[in-house]
Amino acid sequence: MKNVPNRVILPESELPRQWYNVQADMPERHDPYINPGTGKPATSEDFYPIFAEELARQEFSTERFIDIPDEVRELYKTYRPSPLHRAYRLEKALDTPARIYYKYEGGNTSGSHKLNSALPQVYYNKRQGITRLTTETGAGQWGTALAMAARFFGLDLTVFMVKISSMQKPYRKAIMETFGADVAASPSDRTASGRKILEQDPECLGSLGVAISEAVEMAVTTPGSRYVLGSVLNQVLLHQSVIGLEAKLQLEMVDEYPDLVIGCSGGGSNMGGLMAPFMRDRLTGARKPYFIAVEPAACPSFTRGKYAYDFCDTAKVTPLARMYTLGSGFMPSSIHAGGLRYHGMSPILSKLYHDGFLDEARAEKQNDVFAAAKLFAGEEGILPAPESSHAIKAAIDEALRCKQSGEARTILFGLSGHGHFDMGAYISYNEGSITDYIPTDEELQKGFDTLPKVE
Ligand SMILES: *Cc1c(COP(=O)(O)O)cnc(C)c1O
Repeated sequence: MKNVPNRVILPESELPRQWYNVQADMPERHDPYINPGTGKPATSEDFYPIFAEELARQEFSTERFIDIPDEVRELYKTYRPSPLHRAYRLEKALDTPARIYYKYEGGNTSGSHKLNSALPQVYYNKRQGITRLTTETGAGQWGTALAMAARFFGLDLTVFMVKISSMQKPYRKAIMETFGADVAASPSDRTASGRKILEQDPECLGSLGVAISEAVEMAVTTPGSRYVLGSVLNQVLLHQSVIGLEAKLQLEMVDEYPDLVIGCSGGGSNMGGLMAPFMRDRLTGARKPYFIAVEPAACPSFTRGKYAYDFCDTAKVTPLARMYTLGSGFMPSSIHAGGLRYHGMSPILSKLYHDGFLDEARAEKQNDVFAAAKLFAGEEGILPAPESSHAIKAAIDEALRCKQSGEARTILFGLSGHGHFDMGAYISYNEGSITDYIPTDEELQKGFDTLPKVE
């Protein structure tokens, strides 16, 4: 075993030139998207009114490797390759024989992995002559990343920010505006879908689903405009594969291969990206790493959801996808891991989970997650995002398991972002006022009742 540095640094020249598309190696593809208008399987053309054509094509592609455009790779170089850390101090604090590695994606101004997909999405839209983009943001990371990318490529951007998040995180809004974005708290009076929800409930604190509906509506009703989505879709998992491709090279540099790959999962993009090349090894039979996706107990799509066709938004304009879902009408409680408050889950991850390749999903409670975050911050010196802290919690549990069994397993987890804009959440945790909200079966049933009937 080589002497492993605290941070394994990949030279800029080694930044991947191609993304890896896990769809190329899946024995079965995910169930087809369905056009809600016709009830028939959707084609890439059905996506053209909503997404840039190249992105719509990527959504359906089974090409194994797809070139990263030079313009995008140059911008990646401003903050990538991201470091792979060896968690020496955490290992010592846990007194575990496990070797813990984490891939840190918080080292850019947007503070998360979201920039990896924001840059190519804006690039492909610009190349097609689109001048204006719309999107939603929950916790604010996606909106911030997109505001940066839109600024770099010179496009206008309107961000519908979930109202509860805009109240909890005013500084996120300020960053987006600094990069030139127009930010509206959702539900807003800018769209018919927003106005309808406000009529029913003027105090509505919003959800990602509602914000998506507003953004899609504005994109399809404004000429020269397109909608972009920061998670869930196959194209986003494709772009995020850069995380896993780098991590695999970095582990090779220190003669390591992960026994366990752990990620938090909201819509599935950072988990999908981190695990991509390792999943390839699993699908081709080359290696057998074990995969764990971690979600909040308050929004348990994998662990308590149904594997069913559902809308990706509450306005029911996007194609239907078969995924693990709580129903697009599910309104999760206002937990602090805003990026994990989505009702559904990536169709690719859903299929891999259903078929047993993604081995395990866990739901964790807020207080346990923040306890893990605090331990991690104190040992590693990085203040993690509440979302990422779900992965930390599982990594710590697995390391403690190794302590009991004496196994020196190699654990890789995704540290998807920093928590510098989540200090309100940390204040609540430090005061002891964070609640562990777990929906009842009856509450989940209300969400399932909103699932569309698909033959
Ligand atoms: C958005 C976000 C997530 C959740 O989204 P995924 O698509 O599941 O990755 C997790 N961590 C951070 C830091 C985020 O910003």
